[in-house]
Amino acid sequence: MHRFFVSPNSMTRGRIEFAAEQSHQIATVLRLKVGDRVAALDNAGWIYDVALTELTPVAVSGAVQSKRLVPNEPRLKLTLYPALLKSDKLEFVFQKCTEIGASGFAPIICDRCSVGSVVSENRQARWERIIVEAAEQSERGRLPQLLPATVFPQACEQVHARGLSFIAWERGERPSLRAEMSSRLGSSVGTRPFAMNLFVGPEGGFTDAEIELAASYGIIPVGLGARILRAETAAIVGTTLALAGAGDLE
Ligand code: SAH
Repeated sequence: MHRFFVSPNSMTRGRIEFAAEQSHQIATVLRLKVGDRVAALDNAGWIYDVALTELTPVAVSGAVQSKRLVPNEPRLKLTLYPALLKSDKLEFVFQKCTEIGASGFAPIICDRCSVGSVVSENRQARWERIIVEAAEQSERGRLPQLLPATVFPQACEQVHARGLSFIAWERGERPSLRAEMSSRLGSSVGTRPFAMNLFVGPEGGFTDAEIELAASYGIIPVGLGARILRAETAAIVGTTLALAGAGDLE
């Protein structure tokens, strides 16, 4: 069944009015008819079974038949802090990591970022669309939150004292993310929700000064294996290892 995230104010007394873009998708692209069913998600954890009642190319509405809690959200609330990369690479990261189960994204502006640090409104809106589509497709119950891009030191401050934080580092003596998660989480893995943050650097890597600054905020440098991964690969591998380490890919 096709799934759509809807805003809370589109729902009144058992009736749902879909936004213009979604209406276009339902009526024109999917060519659904009155009586057909779609699923609406309220981003608060509920999924609604909706029977379509009115369809025009710009306005589609339906009646809620039933609702239930979506069971698919990970217990691990992982916020990924990827370095600002070229647009197509970052889009790939948002799409794939939403599918895998990241709960939030906060792009970071690092010393060795090779792209400009200004994120236009268009770009931000495009990223949000990619996340919504990936969340609908992968049957998430909640949309990963996209935070505005921040400079690296500010991001370190943001995560300070907000759950366990790691920074992926391909050099030096450091434990693996997997080992570090299991030693820090011990037997609590898979039993209760918890927050975790993971920083992944740009193509040129983090500078030693950035790693030191992160460590001063309690952000733990970790490895993702002996091979050097491209930034977007590292984001995907890191997200996968984190969710697997928390027992959320069972
Ligand atoms: N140009 C750098 C590599 C940067 S890789 C060099 O040649 O040394 C881009 C980012 O991916 C890094 O900043 C790091 O966060 C992550 N990364 C890639 N491979 C990794 C590994 N094996 N372990 C930990 N992090 C890794």
